[in-house]
Amino acid sequence: AVKTRFAPSPTGLLHLGNLRTALFNVLLARAAGGRFCLRIEDSDAARSETRYLDALLEDLRWLGLDWDEGPGDGQPESAWRQAERGGVYAPLFERLEEAGAAYPCFCSAEALAEARARQRAAGQPPRYPGTCAAIPRAEARRRLAAGEAATLRFRVPAARRITFDDGVRGPQAFASADLGDFVIRRTDGTAAFLFGNAVDDALGGITHVLRGEDHLANTPRQLLLLQALGFAAPVYAHLPMIVGDDGAPLSKRHGAGAVAELRAAGYRPEALLNYLARLGYQPASDELLDLDGLARGFRLAALGRAPARFDGAQLDHWQERAMAVLPVAALTAWLPADLVPSEAREALVATVRPNLRFPQELADWARRLYDPAPLTLAADAAATLVAAGPGFFDAVSEVIAASPGAGWDSLRRALAEATGCRGRALFLPLRLALTGVPHGPGLGELLDLMPDDIRRARLERARE
Ligand code: GLU
Repeated sequence: AVKTRFAPSPTGLLHLGNLRTALFNVLLARAAGGRFCLRIEDSDAARSETRYLDALLEDLRWLGLDWDEGPGDGQPESAWRQAERGGVYAPLFERLEEAGAAYPCFCSAEALAEARARQRAAGQPPRYPGTCAAIPRAEARRRLAAGEAATLRFRVPAARRITFDDGVRGPQAFASADLGDFVIRRTDGTAAFLFGNAVDDALGGITHVLRGEDHLANTPRQLLLLQALGFAAPVYAHLPMIVGDDGAPLSKRHGAGAVAELRAAGYRPEALLNYLARLGYQPASDELLDLDGLARGFRLAALGRAPARFDGAQLDHWQERAMAVLPVAALTAWLPADLVPSEAREALVATVRPNLRFPQELADWARRLYDPAPLTLAADAAATLVAAGPGFFDAVSEVIAASPGAGWDSLRRALAEATGCRGRALFLPLRLALTGVPHGPGLGELLDLMPDDIRRARLERARE
């Protein structure tokens, strides 16, 4: 049975790149009737923060990316939280050391930095030079007993070709000589990323590791590690990164903030999911889909290999589609409580919803149509009102006062006649005077919604 996981480190807020990885893992599990797990990789205590863990859980729940195993599933925290798994890792470190597959490394951070600088100067890739690889066991034990700080390094076997079939990118090959012995346990005794990550996948029965391409170089190391431990390896599959329109890795600069920021801005979860699902994957239909719909037919082999380009306009397109299908009741909740009479709330929502990108905009429309306080005018609006002149607004007020309940068609004709204006010259100053903004639903519909006294006050103020 397929079992996937999302394994974030709580060192920052969830971003779109990571979210797409989580989503594809959900889709992979759903498409196969399998399970999706959430694991928290917080073994790096210096960089992990509880507030990021809390924010992450909140984001995932808001998005509806529910997990079958992980936080809140009733299991002890040690089942999903690496900081609690020291007891699981300890005997495995010991096993590797006993077998000579790992050794204590006493190199200081300075010594390692110097070695890297030397290698760089010589045009070589930075790689652990093997300084501690040959220290005899007894000597290493003596130094440890004397309190010397040490990491534990995995001894990469010499002259080995490591191959695997990447679920997205196809056959991959690496030479062990290019890897360098890597740290599996930090000086503070905690598991380093390469170790905790691979071990937890193996012990958790994860069948498919679908993750960002930035982890591709880690995979040959993790395969060696799993082999040394006698654990079966999952299918590894690496997703192309998301880039901005300049080809650089996606960042805030491209208008793609954290998920929490997009949520605060009013984006709908289904808009984010429908947009991200289409970055490198083509769902079964072009409709706005729920997770089951997005998962239909999902296969690793169907994932694109080219970098996925972030396009804010496309995201907004899905946002508009998500807004368009929201039930009226979900939208009325965004109206200010006291401004709009209860019998008018649904009509207001029905009228302005084709013009909404974000639910918060409902509050703006409520103020435009129902707030007795003067409007905040859009830029240039004042000049348009002055150009129309007091006579224009006097004529408009008269017509409107004289024809209560008149339909828009007859009202429009009467307004054109009384003001001598038509088309834009009639509608723009009128719209600006009534709503303060040059865009929105049809003027007739807006006039129908607006209470008499507010209409009168708006027109009165426009002529000043
Ligand atoms: N904690 C790692 C990350 O957030 C997980 C990588 C993986 O999915 O294997 O990048």
